[in-house]
Amino acid sequence: MSAAIIDTAHGDGDVVSLTFDDGPNPADTPALLDVLRRHDVTAVFCLQGDQAEQHPELVRRIAAAGHTLCNHGMHHDDMSSWTPEQIAADLRETSAAIRRALPGARIPYFRAPYGAWGGSPAVAEALGMRPLGWRLAVADWETPGTGELVRRLRAGITPGAVVLLHDGGGDRSQTVDAVDLVIASLKARRWRFTQPRPDWPQAPA
Ligand SMILES: [Zn+2]
Repeated sequence: MSAAIIDTAHGDGDVVSLTFDDGPNPADTPALLDVLRRHDVTAVFCLQGDQAEQHPELVRRIAAAGHTLCNHGMHHDDMSSWTPEQIAADLRETSAAIRRALPGARIPYFRAPYGAWGGSPAVAEALGMRPLGWRLAVADWETPGTGELVRRLRAGITPGAVVLLHDGGGDRSQTVDAVDLVIASLKARRWRFTQPRPDWPQAPA
Protein backbone atom coordinates (compact mmCIF):
# COMPACT_ATOMS: atom_id res chain seq x y z
CA MET A 1 0.00 0.00 0.00
CA SER A 2 1.12 3.50 -0.73
CA ALA A 3 1.59 5.79 2.25
CA ALA A 4 1.58 8.95 0.14
CA ILE A 5 0.28 11.93 2.07
CA ILE A 6 -2.87 13.33 0.48
CA ASP A 7 -2.97 17.10 -0.01
CA THR A 8 -5.34 17.39 -2.98
CA ALA A 9 -9.05 18.04 -3.18
CA HIS A 10 -11.23 15.75 -5.28
CA GLY A 11 -12.41 17.05 -8.64
CA ASP A 12 -11.17 19.36 -11.36
CA GLY A 13 -10.87 23.12 -11.59
CA ASP A 14 -11.77 25.42 -8.73
CA VAL A 15 -12.16 22.92 -5.91
CA VAL A 16 -10.94 23.15 -2.33
CA SER A 17 -11.15 20.93 0.77
CA LEU A 18 -11.51 22.48 4.20
CA THR A 19 -10.11 20.55 7.17
CA PHE A 20 -10.42 21.44 10.86
CA ASP A 21 -8.06 20.13 13.53
CA ASP A 22 -7.83 19.76 17.31
CA GLY A 23 -11.52 19.60 18.18
CA PRO A 24 -14.17 18.86 19.02
CA ASN A 25 -14.34 22.06 21.04
CA PRO A 26 -17.62 23.16 22.65
CA ALA A 27 -16.67 26.85 22.39
CA ASP A 28 -16.31 26.97 18.60
CA THR A 29 -17.24 23.70 16.90
CA PRO A 30 -21.03 24.27 17.12
CA ALA A 31 -20.74 27.70 15.49
CA LEU A 32 -18.51 26.26 12.80
CA LEU A 33 -21.04 23.51 12.12
CA ASP A 34 -23.74 26.18 11.76
CA VAL A 35 -21.61 28.12 9.26
CA LEU A 36 -20.86 25.02 7.19
CA ARG A 37 -24.51 23.97 7.18
CA ARG A 38 -25.64 27.43 6.12
CA HIS A 39 -23.27 27.27 3.14
CA ASP A 40 -24.01 23.59 2.43
CA VAL A 41 -20.32 22.69 2.71
CA THR A 42 -18.91 19.46 4.11
CA ALA A 43 -15.42 19.36 5.55
CA VAL A 44 -13.01 17.02 7.32
CA PHE A 45 -12.67 17.15 11.11
CA CYS A 46 -9.36 15.82 12.50
CA LEU A 47 -10.39 14.89 16.02
CA GLN A 48 -8.12 14.74 19.03
CA GLY A 49 -8.92 11.60 21.03
CA ASP A 50 -9.03 13.22 24.46
CA GLN A 51 -11.31 15.96 23.11
CA ALA A 52 -13.60 13.34 21.57
CA GLU A 53 -13.79 11.58 24.93
CA GLN A 54 -14.79 14.81 26.66
CA HIS A 55 -17.31 15.91 24.04
CA PRO A 56 -18.88 12.80 22.50
CA GLU A 57 -22.08 14.67 21.60
CA LEU A 58 -20.04 16.93 19.31
CA VAL A 59 -18.46 13.93 17.58
CA ARG A 60 -21.97 12.72 16.82
CA ARG A 61 -23.09 16.16 15.61
CA ILE A 62 -20.10 16.47 13.28
CA ALA A 63 -20.74 13.07 11.70
CA ALA A 64 -24.51 13.55 11.56
CA ALA A 65 -23.97 16.74 9.56
CA GLY A 66 -22.21 14.74 6.86
CA HIS A 67 -18.63 15.71 7.62
CA THR A 68 -15.75 13.27 7.36
CA LEU A 69 -13.79 12.17 10.42
CA CYS A 70 -10.02 12.04 10.73
CA ASN A 71 -7.85 10.61 13.52
CA HIS A 72 -5.51 13.30 14.92
CA GLY A 73 -3.96 11.28 17.75
CA MET A 74 -4.97 10.90 21.35
CA HIS A 75 -3.20 13.83 23.06
CA HIS A 76 -1.66 15.83 20.20
CA ASP A 77 1.81 14.39 20.75
CA ASP A 78 4.78 14.77 18.43
CA MET A 79 5.06 11.18 17.12
CA SER A 80 8.03 11.77 14.86
CA SER A 81 10.46 9.77 17.02
CA TRP A 82 8.00 7.06 18.08
CA THR A 83 8.24 3.41 17.11
CA PRO A 84 5.57 1.97 14.81
CA GLU A 85 4.20 0.08 17.81
CA GLN A 86 3.85 3.27 19.86
CA ILE A 87 2.19 5.06 16.96
CA ALA A 88 -0.21 2.18 16.33
CA ALA A 89 -1.23 2.11 20.00
CA ASP A 90 -2.02 5.84 19.98
CA LEU A 91 -3.94 5.70 16.71
CA ARG A 92 -5.97 2.71 17.87
CA GLU A 93 -6.76 4.42 21.17
CA THR A 94 -7.88 7.54 19.30
CA SER A 95 -10.15 5.64 16.91
CA ALA A 96 -11.60 3.74 19.87
CA ALA A 97 -12.34 7.02 21.66
CA ILE A 98 -14.12 8.34 18.57
CA ARG A 99 -16.09 5.11 18.21
CA ARG A 100 -17.13 5.16 21.85
CA ALA A 101 -18.85 8.43 20.97
CA LEU A 102 -20.13 7.09 17.67
CA PRO A 103 -20.12 3.30 17.31
CA GLY A 104 -19.05 2.18 13.87
CA ALA A 105 -17.77 5.64 12.91
CA ARG A 106 -15.99 5.76 9.57
CA ILE A 107 -12.52 7.31 10.03
CA PRO A 108 -10.84 7.29 6.63
CA TYR A 109 -7.98 9.69 7.42
CA PHE A 110 -5.15 10.25 9.87
CA ARG A 111 -3.28 13.52 10.29
CA ALA A 112 -0.11 13.68 12.40
CA PRO A 113 -0.10 16.36 15.11
CA TYR A 114 2.16 19.26 14.06
CA GLY A 115 2.56 17.52 10.70
CA ALA A 116 5.38 15.62 12.46
CA TRP A 117 4.79 12.49 10.39
CA GLY A 118 7.75 10.28 11.34
CA GLY A 119 6.72 6.69 10.72
CA SER A 120 3.02 7.40 11.07
CA PRO A 121 1.89 7.33 7.40
CA ALA A 122 2.66 3.62 7.00
CA VAL A 123 1.12 2.81 10.38
CA ALA A 124 -2.03 4.75 9.50
CA GLU A 125 -2.32 2.94 6.17
CA ALA A 126 -1.97 -0.41 7.91
CA LEU A 127 -4.87 0.61 10.16
CA GLY A 128 -7.01 1.57 7.15
CA MET A 129 -6.52 5.35 7.26
CA ARG A 130 -4.99 7.56 4.58
CA PRO A 131 -2.46 10.16 5.75
CA LEU A 132 -4.05 13.57 5.20
CA GLY A 133 -1.73 16.55 4.74
CA TRP A 134 -2.45 20.02 3.44
CA ARG A 135 -1.27 22.56 0.88
CA LEU A 136 -2.25 25.68 2.75
CA ALA A 137 -2.02 26.58 6.42
CA VAL A 138 -2.80 30.15 7.44
CA ALA A 139 -1.56 30.03 11.06
CA ASP A 140 -5.02 30.65 12.47
CA TRP A 141 -3.53 29.67 15.86
CA GLU A 142 -1.87 33.10 15.86
CA THR A 143 -5.37 34.65 16.06
CA PRO A 144 -4.27 37.57 13.85
CA GLY A 145 -7.81 38.87 13.42
CA THR A 146 -10.67 37.76 11.19
CA GLY A 147 -9.75 40.21 8.42
CA GLU A 148 -6.16 39.00 8.29
CA LEU A 149 -7.29 35.37 8.19
CA VAL A 150 -9.62 36.18 5.31
CA ARG A 151 -6.73 37.88 3.51
CA ARG A 152 -4.41 34.90 4.05
CA LEU A 153 -7.04 32.43 2.85
CA ARG A 154 -7.95 34.45 -0.24
CA ALA A 155 -4.28 34.92 -1.12
CA GLY A 156 -3.33 31.32 -0.46
CA ILE A 157 -6.14 29.12 -1.74
CA THR A 158 -5.29 27.53 -5.08
CA PRO A 159 -7.34 25.06 -7.15
CA GLY A 160 -7.20 21.60 -5.58
CA ALA A 161 -5.81 22.72 -2.24
CA VAL A 162 -6.46 20.94 1.03
CA VAL A 163 -6.61 23.75 3.61
CA LEU A 164 -5.63 23.33 7.27
CA LEU A 165 -7.66 25.25 9.85
CA HIS A 166 -8.48 24.68 13.53
CA ASP A 167 -11.71 24.47 15.52
CA GLY A 168 -9.87 23.55 18.74
CA GLY A 169 -6.73 24.30 20.71
CA GLY A 170 -7.75 27.82 21.72
CA ASP A 171 -10.26 30.53 20.87
CA ARG A 172 -11.17 29.80 17.24
CA SER A 173 -13.95 32.35 16.80
CA GLN A 174 -11.81 34.27 14.28
CA THR A 175 -11.42 31.10 12.24
CA VAL A 176 -15.17 30.49 12.27
CA ASP A 177 -15.90 34.06 11.14
CA ALA A 178 -13.19 33.99 8.46
CA VAL A 179 -14.45 30.67 7.07
CA ASP A 180 -17.96 32.12 6.82
CA LEU A 181 -16.71 35.07 4.75
CA VAL A 182 -14.31 33.09 2.57
CA ILE A 183 -16.83 30.39 1.70
CA ALA A 184 -19.30 33.08 0.64
CA SER A 185 -16.77 34.81 -1.57
CA LEU A 186 -15.48 31.59 -3.16
CA LYS A 187 -19.00 30.31 -3.80
CA ALA A 188 -19.84 33.62 -5.47
CA ARG A 189 -16.99 32.80 -7.86
CA ARG A 190 -18.34 29.27 -8.36
CA TRP A 191 -15.71 27.39 -6.41
CA ARG A 192 -16.76 23.97 -5.14
CA PHE A 193 -15.98 22.48 -1.76
CA THR A 194 -15.10 18.81 -2.05
CA GLN A 195 -13.56 16.09 0.06
CA PRO A 196 -9.87 15.28 -0.23
CA ARG A 197 -8.83 12.96 -3.00
CA PRO A 198 -10.72 9.66 -2.81
CA ASP A 199 -9.82 7.91 0.40
CA TRP A 200 -9.42 4.40 -0.98
CA PRO A 201 -8.10 1.82 -0.50
CA GLN A 202 -9.56 1.19 2.90
CA ALA A 203 -8.35 -1.86 4.75
CA PRO A 204 -10.11 -3.15 7.83
CA ALA A 205 -8.67 -1.64 11.01
ZN1 LIG B 1 -3.35 19.59 15.57
